[in-house]
Amino acid sequence: MVKNKQEKCSFCERDKSGDIKKIFAGPNAYICDVCVRICFEILQKDKTVKQSQLKSKADEKAFDVSNFVVPKPKDIKRKLDDFIIGQESAKKLISVAVHNHYKRIKHKDSNDDVQLEKSNILFIGPTGSGKTLMARTLAKLLDVPLAICDATALTEAGYVGEDVENVLLRLLQASNFDAKKAELGIVYIDEIDKVARTTDNVSITRDVSGEGVQQALLKLLEGTIANIPPQGGRKHPQQEYIQVDTTNILFICGGTFAHLENLIERRISNKSMGFGAEVKSKSKKKIGEILSKVETEDLLKFGFIPEFVGRFGAMTTLDGLGEEDLVRVLTEPKNALLKQYSKFLKLENVKLVFEDDALKEVAKRAIKKKTGARALRMILEELMLEVMYEIPSDENIEECIITRAVVQKKESPILIRKVVDREVSAA
Ligand code: ADP
Repeated sequence: MVKNKQEKCSFCERDKSGDIKKIFAGPNAYICDVCVRICFEILQKDKTVKQSQLKSKADEKAFDVSNFVVPKPKDIKRKLDDFIIGQESAKKLISVAVHNHYKRIKHKDSNDDVQLEKSNILFIGPTGSGKTLMARTLAKLLDVPLAICDATALTEAGYVGEDVENVLLRLLQASNFDAKKAELGIVYIDEIDKVARTTDNVSITRDVSGEGVQQALLKLLEGTIANIPPQGGRKHPQQEYIQVDTTNILFICGGTFAHLENLIERRISNKSMGFGAEVKSKSKKKIGEILSKVETEDLLKFGFIPEFVGRFGAMTTLDGLGEEDLVRVLTEPKNALLKQYSKFLKLENVKLVFEDDALKEVAKRAIKKKTGARALRMILEELMLEVMYEIPSDENIEECIITRAVVQKKESPILIRKVVDREVSAA
């Protein structure tokens, strides 16, 4: 029968005997398991060649530190001024710290006995005061990759070591898996105060989970070679890792450090009152003033291990933003919210006028929300929703005025129509 003829492999022409265990049939051809294996090996070889070509290409492009231009502290500060309102002392300190950090990397190989030590940065300041914004702006102006993560996520996962390394995975992703570039990047870890030991029982028990995260982070802060699984998640023995040396990565940690001011005040006044006993509510300004006197000792009492605190050479506080600052945040930075809304409306040929009283009212409302400048965006989005909905469908509008009463939701935004339109409607 034809059957025998059909069962021959169309490639090697052998039939199902000897080495051939299986023959696969297609519409007009057959292939045996041996030929399949050969094809698979060829494909695998191709893949390896391609990967090594890609790798050597990446190596060619790899970030070269000798080309890296280290901006001067004054230039860094000037750029920060373009985006960040207030926080003068923090901006100054950061500008110097960042300049020194990258200068140290550039001159690492010089034959000198004096070794410049690595130092990371710690931000202490209320929510929405610009801590993350500072890290973002720095990364942008230095043109280095940035990874932002949250320390609370590290606490929650039981398997601490792995999670901490995932911080570096984000940095690798931000640098297109160019490890050399990632190694010069910035990692911002928010809510670092949440990995402190619980302060209430400092002397009795140790909050192991918080301390565990501090220990794991410590290795990264000091400088270590970490093996990062490119897919993230748990490590497998067969998995390939990307090695990242954290020695030159700038770690910036930030947190609100609630009630830290009580510890500082207690140290300064040397009064023996229990932590948390401070019931008098202090004004934001007062808290800022007290926080600016923070010392290592206070952070240890707050629940940090000495080695961890020791890795932060630069420590600075950011102030809570008051009404005036918030009005400036709305209007002054290069990408201020109001500038963004004006641009949107301009694209529709509409002029946006935000009265001064209206700006102050927005700031007042933001302060009530207690989330600093973060609240501004939400308030404006709600306020402008109707306008942004209406305007693109109405070509006759030429001006939109927001008054205080509009912000207070007592009136609707005033929409001025083109004269032609008015004449028509009057007729
Ligand atoms: P946090 O201190 O909680 O990290 P963020 O930096 O994330 O606060 O601030 C949230 C948003 O509020 C920023 O994206 C920015 O638009 C605005 N903002 C906060 N602080 C400032 C500031 N000092 N100057 C300008 N904008 C600010």
